[in-house]
Amino acid sequence: MEKLTSPRVIETILKKYDLHFNKRFGQNFLIDENIVQKIVKAGDVGEDDLVLEIGPGIGTMTQALSDHAGKVITVEIDKKLIPVLHETLKECDNVTVVQGDILKTNVKEILADDLSNMPLKIVANLPYYITTPIIMGFLESDLPVESMTFLIQKEVGERLCGVPGTKAYGSLSIVAQFYADISIDFEVPAHVFIPKPKVDSIVVTLKKLATPRIELENKELFLSVVKASFLNRRKTLINGLMMNTPFDKEVLLEVLEACEIPPGIRGETLTGSDFGRIANALNQRMDIAGDPIK
Ligand code: SAM
Repeated sequence: MEKLTSPRVIETILKKYDLHFNKRFGQNFLIDENIVQKIVKAGDVGEDDLVLEIGPGIGTMTQALSDHAGKVITVEIDKKLIPVLHETLKECDNVTVVQGDILKTNVKEILADDLSNMPLKIVANLPYYITTPIIMGFLESDLPVESMTFLIQKEVGERLCGVPGTKAYGSLSIVAQFYADISIDFEVPAHVFIPKPKVDSIVVTLKKLATPRIELENKELFLSVVKASFLNRRKTLINGLMMNTPFDKEVLLEVLEACEIPPGIRGETLTGSDFGRIANALNQRMDIAGDPIK
C-alpha cells in the first residue's frame, strides 16, 4: 500500500469518504515521510513506551508511532475521520483510536492500566489553534508525562524556549519552563503539509521535570506577578508591579530587597525562579482573605 503521506492517496481517501480539510479543526496533514520519521525520532519513542497522540488526521504519524511504540492511544475530534482511521490503522494492533476533544477528554481514564507500567510520551502534529491550552494543560496536570514532542507554530516554539532579555521571552516562556526543559528539534517548511499553513512551523520537545523548578506557595499570585511584569515591557519591575498588583510600593520594595532583586530593572530580565521567589515572598504579606497586609 502507498504511504499516507502521498498527496494522491490523501485525495483518494478524501473522495472515498466525502471529506474536506476542516480549517476549524486546524487540519494540515503531513505529506513528507522523512518529516514524519524525524518527529517520531525526536519523540524518542521505543517499544516500552505508551504514546498519546493528539489529532491523528488520517493516521499518517500514527502508523509511524505504531511501528516504534509499545502502545499508541490517539484522540481525534473530527467524527468524520474515525472510519478513515479504522481503515488506515486496521493492521496496527497496538493502536486505540478515541473520538473526542483532547481538551475535554479524561486522559487518565483512556490511558487507564497502561499508565502505571509504561513511560508516557506525547507526540503530535498539533492543531495550532489550541497549542497553548494543550501544552499548559499537560504541564500542569499530574499525569506522569515523561516528554512531549510537538510540531507547532514556529513563533509559539520560540516563545516556549525564550530566554530572559529576548523578544520571544514572556509569560509563556516562564510558566512552561517552570515545569519542563524545552528544546527546539528542527524547523519544518510549509510545503510538507496539505493544505500549506500560512505560518512557519517547528518541532519542540518538552521534558517534564519531576517537580517544578521552585515550590510555589500561591500559584495564582505567581501567575499575576509574571503577568504584571510583562503587561508593559518598557516599565521597570517596580512600576509594573505597582500598577498591576494590589501591593503598596513600600511592601513591594521591601520584598524585592529581601529577594535581592533591583526594583529598577525590567521584568523581562528575570528568570522564572526569580518570579517564584518574589511571589512566595509577597504571599507572606497577604492575609487569609487574600488581601495585602498593610
Ligand atoms: N496528525 C495528522 C498529520 O500529521 O497529518 C494531522 C495533524 S492536523 C495539524 C491536526 C489534527 O488534530 C486534525 O486531524 C484535527 O482534526 C485534530 N484536532 C483538532 N482539534 C482537536 C481537538 N480539540 N482534539 C483532538 N483532535 C483535534
